[in-house]
Amino acid sequence: MLKRFFQLLLLLILCFVSLFSACKEESSVSLPPYTSEKVTPFFPKQVEFTPAVLKDGVWNTQETDISYISPTRKLISFTFDDTPKGSLENILAVFASFNETHPKCKATATLFCNGNLIHNSSFHTLQTALTLGFELGNHSYSHPDLTTLSTEKLRAEIDDTDQLLSRIDSKDKHLFRPPYGRISEQVKSAVGVPVIDWTIDTLDWTGVSADEIYQTVFSQKFSGAIVLMHDGYANTVSALKRLLPDLEKDGYQVVSVSAMSKAHDCPLKRGSVYIRARKKSGNA
Ligand SMILES: [Zn+2]
Repeated sequence: MLKRFFQLLLLLILCFVSLFSACKEESSVSLPPYTSEKVTPFFPKQVEFTPAVLKDGVWNTQETDISYISPTRKLISFTFDDTPKGSLENILAVFASFNETHPKCKATATLFCNGNLIHNSSFHTLQTALTLGFELGNHSYSHPDLTTLSTEKLRAEIDDTDQLLSRIDSKDKHLFRPPYGRISEQVKSAVGVPVIDWTIDTLDWTGVSADEIYQTVFSQKFSGAIVLMHDGYANTVSALKRLLPDLEKDGYQVVSVSAMSKAHDCPLKRGSVYIRARKKSGNA
C-alpha cells in the first residue's frame, strides 16, 4: 500500500515538472518590441474640399483635366465597378504601360468604388489610380439593391462612401452608379448627383473569355459610349491589354466619364441617368 502511494506521488511530481517546463518554454518566446513607427495611419487627415461639384444641379467639370484628350479622336469611356478589389493593381498596370508607350493618347477611366472595400492597402491603390488620371465614382457602401432601402439607409450608403473617397480625391460628391443598375424615382432623387449607367455591357463577371470581352467592346463601340467592366476578373485585364492599343489604332481615346462629358460638351445633370455622353454637335 505504501509502495503504491510513493509511486503515485512520484507520478504527480513528474507531471508538475513537465507542465512547468512546458509553460516556461512557452513564456520564453519573446514578442517583437512595440514601435509606433510600424503602424500605418488609417486614413490621412481630411484635406480641403474642392468647391461644390454640382453647380445649379449640373456636374461641375471645371477642374476636370481634358488637356490630354486629342480633339481629333473619338472618345469612349471605360468604367470599372465593385472596386477596389484584387485586380485593380493589374488594371492600373495595363493603363500605365499603355500610357508610357502612347503619350499622345493617354487612357484613363472611372472607378465606381464600394466603401466597404476601401481599407488600408486598397486606399493607396486608389491614390495611385488618381495620379494616373482616373476618376473615382460612388457605387454605394455595401452593394445593396438600393430600391429596397429606406431613404435614410440609402443616403448612408452614399454618404459613407463619399466621405471615404473624399479623403483620396478631396471631392465631396461623386458620380454614382447603382449596384445591379437598379434604380427607382426615389433612388434618383435621393442620390443627388448624375447617375451613370452604360451602353456596352461586357458581362465580364459571368466568366466570359477575354476574347469575348474584347469582341463585345470592339463590335459595339461608338464615340460617347460608356463601357461596363468589373474589378476582380483576370479576363478583363487580359482583354484590356488588347483593347487599349487596338482602340487607339482605330482612332479612339479611352477616358473617364467626366472627361468625356466635358470634352463632348454634354453636361451631366443631378438625378438624370446617363448611358452615354455623345458629342453635342452630333458629328461623332
Ligand atoms: Zn456592382
